[in-house]
Amino acid sequence: MIESNLHNPEMETLQGSALEAVQLRKLKKLVVRVYEKSPYYKNKFDVAGVNPYELNSLEEFSHYPFFTKEEERESQQLSLKQYGHPYGMHVTCDVGDINLTSASSGTTGFPTFQAVTEKDRRMRNEHMARALCRLEIKPGDTALFCGEMSMWVAGIPSIDGLLAYGCNVVPVGAKGSIKIAEMMDMVHPVVALGTPSFFRHMIKKVANETNINLCEVGPKKIIVYGEPGGSVPEVVRELSEGFGGAEIYDIMGGTGCHNPLFVSCKENNGLHIVAPENAYVEILDPETQKPLPMEDGVTGEIVLTGLDRECGPLIRSQVKDLVRVFTSPCACGMPGWRMFIEGRVDDMLLVKGVNVFPNAIRDIALKSPAVLTGNIQVLKFSKSQVIEPPLEVKVECKGNPSQEDKVKIKKKLEGEIQRVLRFRCEAILIDENKLEIEYGPTGKAKLTKKMY
Ligand SMILES: [Zn+2]
Repeated sequence: MIESNLHNPEMETLQGSALEAVQLRKLKKLVVRVYEKSPYYKNKFDVAGVNPYELNSLEEFSHYPFFTKEEERESQQLSLKQYGHPYGMHVTCDVGDINLTSASSGTTGFPTFQAVTEKDRRMRNEHMARALCRLEIKPGDTALFCGEMSMWVAGIPSIDGLLAYGCNVVPVGAKGSIKIAEMMDMVHPVVALGTPSFFRHMIKKVANETNINLCEVGPKKIIVYGEPGGSVPEVVRELSEGFGGAEIYDIMGGTGCHNPLFVSCKENNGLHIVAPENAYVEILDPETQKPLPMEDGVTGEIVLTGLDRECGPLIRSQVKDLVRVFTSPCACGMPGWRMFIEGRVDDMLLVKGVNVFPNAIRDIALKSPAVLTGNIQVLKFSKSQVIEPPLEVKVECKGNPSQEDKVKIKKKLEGEIQRVLRFRCEAILIDENKLEIEYGPTGKAKLTKKMY
């Protein structure tokens, strides 16, 4: 293990029964605190028939009710109506102690607020320090922040963490590719942060419209967030090549926990947890909703409980992501189990008894970068998750290939999908820029299109 690259070796290397003991101690304190501080939680626990004063094992905690995204939003709408603040009925601190508020935009027009106290901010910054230290970023390094800052959860909070760590932070913000390239040319950042789709776009635009060579002036490290690209090998390769061999890292939070909570490594071998003592993570069987053992290779729905959050902690936050977990040591030497995001629970399709995630189809399309852009859209003709093959998928080509070439591309892609994913699909090839991409509330491209 590379202890010198760990910000808090004592906590980051906790595992097994020692880790479980810390988690249980924190959980016991947490459930009592939320029960006593929030009438909303009190009622919720009473209805579920759980007694927070009698929580004695992690197994018993699996009887506690989930907290869904919809519930979080409803709770916040209700507190706005009843108490005149949007921080939720599940707030467990004095509203006057809130020190920073961020939000993510919602599909309903009502954003989801994330508020933190000063103590929460310090914890969050500690997590950021752990992630940065693992990536061998040092205090004093110049960090160019190239993302949206206003309100967004990944904006000012990330900058707060970089500042607390001691970086020379240049918050250029979402100023557009050319301005950001010019800034890179002047401040020579060690690290740049932004979304993977922004950096992909930037490589093309800067090459086409300026004389700036990103391979020369670009950062040595890039941290991407907010979208799955940072863990997709083809995207990682594309970004690395576009920035002259830069190291590409993916960073991720967990709803209801102090963020970031996960960061990828040099091996690009999944997202390692950086604060196992501050988050209790459960992996559920998607069918039964019962926790599965945290074993190497286990796949299921991730449920998160932030253990040390003063403002608005979420107990058993159900984020609807399906993940595959690995507990065996990673070749990078970093501690902490790691995971790969397999897809959204709601996006999962069942084709001939095979579980299919649209991003698995996208990953196959990304393997042919010479002919395909990687943009895809699975067409859904009914509400049901069960689909009779062939599954119809629109796939965007690079440029406008001839009819003859299209036949070849289609045949190869369909064959590859059959081979890897074990079901039949009908690929509908679309010329470049002709695929209408819909974006979700957080700016992620939607991979399924409703046709009903
Ligand atoms: Zn690793």
